[in-house]
Amino acid sequence: MKIAVVEGDGIGHEVIPPVREMLAMLRPDIEFFEIEAGYGRWQRTGDAITDDDIAALRTADAILFGAITTPPAPDYQSVIVRIRKELDLYANIRPVKGSRADLIVVRENTEGLYSGIEKIEKDTACTVRCITRKGSERISRYACMLATRRRNLTIGHKANILKSDVFFRDICMEEAHKAGVWVRECYIDALCLDVLLHPEKYDIIVTTNLFGDILSDVAAYLVGGLGLLPSGNIGENHALFEPVHGSAPDISGQDIANPIAAMRSGSMLLAHLRDEPSAALIDQAIEAVLGKGIMTRDLGGTAGTRDFSRAVREELERLIRTG
Ligand code: ATP
Repeated sequence: MKIAVVEGDGIGHEVIPPVREMLAMLRPDIEFFEIEAGYGRWQRTGDAITDDDIAALRTADAILFGAITTPPAPDYQSVIVRIRKELDLYANIRPVKGSRADLIVVRENTEGLYSGIEKIEKDTACTVRCITRKGSERISRYACMLATRRRNLTIGHKANILKSDVFFRDICMEEAHKAGVWVRECYIDALCLDVLLHPEKYDIIVTTNLFGDILSDVAAYLVGGLGLLPSGNIGENHALFEPVHGSAPDISGQDIANPIAAMRSGSMLLAHLRDEPSAALIDQAIEAVLGKGIMTRDLGGTAGTRDFSRAVREELERLIRTG
């Protein structure tokens, strides 16, 4: 099995190596290969990622991705947005799981306000919000597939203002009815508040690209912050797993980043490759360490990234040994 590893920038260099080690412990058959991409690469070479890198990523069974700082050049496209588009990773799956919530944000990942159709003139800047039938059908089908295994589906939109969201909402509704899924709809702004007030109502939430990005950061509040949330970017032929958080330049290099979001992304990667038992071991090891009161600073603890990662690795070793 071939796994591409992209640490990226900032805390990507701190939270991804321990995940790679854990994957190697669980699956000695994994062959890793590294792709250097991001701001650091751009500073060194003028390219944050190349066509050859994208071609290499296509050869992987799955990609483990850290986070990237977008180069501050006006015409530079975000590396992760480019990868999502080129590998057609249309479904961004963001589970938000903790004692107060157990929901999954299903974010359309290739269009909407991330269409890349933008025009900047002297006195006007314009971004086209492009919603297609194909994009809306496939993301709502993915959400319905998850909802049939769970409880219900909520469509997050702003159809009272945006015609493009009337289009998106209607397609999602149609797919939900076809799939026989219990469905409700909610304006995205109201949903951002209600998910915090009544998280137990929500299960699968499907929404467009930018709304999904914002909603998942809002929902992170329910479970202890961005350091905990993993995600999967899934397409027909490729899949990439990354923490929801970014490169966090404000805390990078200080050994204080929480590696749990990255570790849980590793767990999602294994589950995607149909190794649910190994995925469950990573989750169990994290829970066991948290249960001992070992936590990073964002959760109120004192452990550094390295100490916390070592504790999870040792716990994982113990779980593997004891079968
Ligand atoms: P980007 O633009 O790449 O998303 P950003 O700095 O805008 O980067 P994040 O990197 O997601 O956004 O960081 C937002 C905040 O959350 C920062 O204050 C950061 O320190 C904090 N944060 C993010 N990830 C972690 C983590 N793993 N552990 C602790 N704090 C984190």
